Amino acid sequence: MIILLTNDDGIQAPGLTALQSACAGLGEIYVVAPDRERSAVSHAFTLHSPLRAEQVADRSFAVDGTPTDCVNLGVHAILPDRPSLIISGINRGGNMGDDLTYSGTVAAAMEGTMMGVPSIAVSLDLLSSAVDDYHHAASVAVRIASMVLQRGLPPDTFLNVNIPPEGTPQRILITRQGRRVYGGMVDCKTDPRGRSYYWLGGGELDFVDEPGTDFHAVKRGFVSVTPLHFDMTNYRSLSLLQGWIEGEKKEDADA
Ligand code: MN
Repeated sequence: MIILLTNDDGIQAPGLTALQSACAGLGEIYVVAPDRERSAVSHAFTLHSPLRAEQVADRSFAVDGTPTDCVNLGVHAILPDRPSLIISGINRGGNMGDDLTYSGTVAAAMEGTMMGVPSIAVSLDLLSSAVDDYHHAASVAVRIASMVLQRGLPPDTFLNVNIPPEGTPQRILITRQGRRVYGGMVDCKTDPRGRSYYWLGGGELDFVDEPGTDFHAVKRGFVSVTPLHFDMTNYRSLSLLQGWIEGEKKEDADA
């Protein structure tokens, strides 16, 4: 059985290394990952330049592209056969709430799902970015990967797994996507040549602490597993918008 690992923190990231070691017993493990950090590239896909994949170790390839590129190259060009599972991670930092829309980690799992391969994204919520111990997170990832291999996933569904920092209970809660509250601050500074530059993503991050959500679970020390799909249709708005069209027709008829 072939399992493909990728990430968005780059092939050197400790989360990927820990995942690779922990998964060794699950099957034939291949790593196809970006050659450098590509966090927050979302579902970006390289269409206008060639890609290179450098073999850096046995069954391990560094690609000068995005996580989505890596899944494509892995499945269609590098792996000897179709993978039974794709795991993206373990990301340095949680991927919850509205942050999912930016996440390269989550997008790689989405890409796998679009190809019909069961896929999971795994992230470790860190208290400090200096921490690089992913061992407990890797064992949680293997536990969930084993469940997926055994039971499969519903069509068009992938799992977004978020693990709390070490030292907390490891019970799994099935959650829904929560809401992030962004600080919206842009840092403006002056470079040594007197020109302005900007740094996005500043300011305090917060979240809506609502029961049943990914944030609520992880902040209380639970492992959060959210089933995701990529149909972004807002079903609750369909009839509202249909009403607009009906109204327009009526106005035309009255005119
Ligand atoms: Mn990342």
